[in-house]
Amino acid sequence: MLEVAGVRVDPRHWIGGERVDSAGAFTDLSPIDGALLGEVARGGAAEVDAAVAAARDAFPGWAALGPQGRGEILGRVADLVEQRLEEFAQLETRDNGSLLRSHRRGVMPRVAMNIRFFAEYAVNDLKHPEFETRGHTNVVSWDPAGVAAIITPWNAPLMLATWRIGPALASGDTVVLKPPEWAPLTASLFAELTAEAGMPPGVFNVVQGIGTEAGAALAGHPGVSRICFTGSVPTAKAVARAAADNLTPLSFELGGKSPTIVMDDADLGLAATIAAEQYDNAGQVCLAGTRLLVHESVAQEFAARLSEKVREIQQGDPRDEATDLGPQIHPVHLERIEGYVERARTEGATVVFGGERVEPVAGGFYFAPTLITDATLGSEILTQEVFGPVLTMQTFSDEEEAIALANNTDYGLAATLVCGDRPRAERIAARLVAGTVWVNCFFVRDLRAPFGGSRKSGIGREGGVWSFDFYADVKNTCFSPNGWR
Ligand code: NAD
Repeated sequence: MLEVAGVRVDPRHWIGGERVDSAGAFTDLSPIDGALLGEVARGGAAEVDAAVAAARDAFPGWAALGPQGRGEILGRVADLVEQRLEEFAQLETRDNGSLLRSHRRGVMPRVAMNIRFFAEYAVNDLKHPEFETRGHTNVVSWDPAGVAAIITPWNAPLMLATWRIGPALASGDTVVLKPPEWAPLTASLFAELTAEAGMPPGVFNVVQGIGTEAGAALAGHPGVSRICFTGSVPTAKAVARAAADNLTPLSFELGGKSPTIVMDDADLGLAATIAAEQYDNAGQVCLAGTRLLVHESVAQEFAARLSEKVREIQQGDPRDEATDLGPQIHPVHLERIEGYVERARTEGATVVFGGERVEPVAGGFYFAPTLITDATLGSEILTQEVFGPVLTMQTFSDEEEAIALANNTDYGLAATLVCGDRPRAERIAARLVAGTVWVNCFFVRDLRAPFGGSRKSGIGREGGVWSFDFYADVKNTCFSPNGWR
């Protein structure tokens, strides 16, 4: 048993409703100060086999409960998350370094909502549409599919996991979760609650471990019916290859290099506020609009306003209420970010502010909020996802150029537009290649809305009915008017 931030958490796997250990372990560090939080069980093919077998055994019973029966248990899980919200918030902050105040007020309430929303959606909103064809009646249903494998990253570990666990379990699938090795602990605490809520053993399982070991074994497992992977493009390619032999259906939520476009008629105060928000979670947000594209006529004033906003950002210990910006997840990731900035500088780009490590807390992994200008078109810093507090700024002279620059990327996760004219905003938004477009706002999310990426930002959409379309087997049953006794 580990004790982290005053929370007792078991670092072993959760398989078939029991704790299971492995011979090996991996170390878990806190990004806040580099403290060693403990050793976590390091699963591989054997543990994945056991978890998939447990999930398969539990599947018929869970599927047979129906949306209502499953919904009652899932509702209790959501209640328990809410009751223990402070523990989840403290544990996650210590483990992944995101702000405690965000965990308390936004992220952990959303964890409970992820479970409750999809449980209720399955009961109230999947209405089994019917339509007539030459006197025949077609009835659409969403049937449980089997075992869903869920592989998640570290930037919002439990929120991103439950955003998939919710609809998978509500669909009647059973689940094997492989949490991220850089922030594995809240998944383990969550597993405990599923048992407390009365979820039958094997319905929800957790295999801890390294991506290329436990993750790879899960992605290639023939007993898995769905794979939902959230993470980077290179890993997605490995997951796709592993899944190919079994033709396992995939949902991919990947990275981004999203634009934040500031038009010449934009409210520049709003634009600067939105731009500064792109540093949230120390820039470790898939949706972050890290490419600032600004009309040349307002670029100077916008940059000045942004600099002013950034000066107000307090970087430090994410457990302090006053802190706005915490650490990066891991020394390896910090080095990666630093490498991107150094190479941009070497290639002639200008570092307007930031661009270096800072140490507001001794031993922690912090990088200053950074703005880069004058980068060469097509250069690494303008095309690759840094996943840190690093924004670039480019200018454009007209609408056409803004759209061309915005779409000049392999990604297509999100786009943010700051614009003073509604018809113009609609015209531009319609031409942006992105799964989500925000106009004069950022990060407004609704679980009923489709979420996902175009191009290399992902495959498929989640949220509302789109989640059920993925986790369930969608079936059409056609009844003839003839042949009835
Ligand atoms: P990553 O790809 O390194 O790892 C993600 C998960 O995959 C981890 O659990 C890891 O252990 C596992 N993994 C690693 N190798 C594997 C393999 N060969 N087979 C199976 N699993 C394997 O990503 P990361 O660094 O943890 O996360 C950052 C990335 O995630 C960024 O690109 C970010 O944009 C993306 N992300 C996307 C979304 C979204 O919804 N689109 C949300 C959050 C993060």
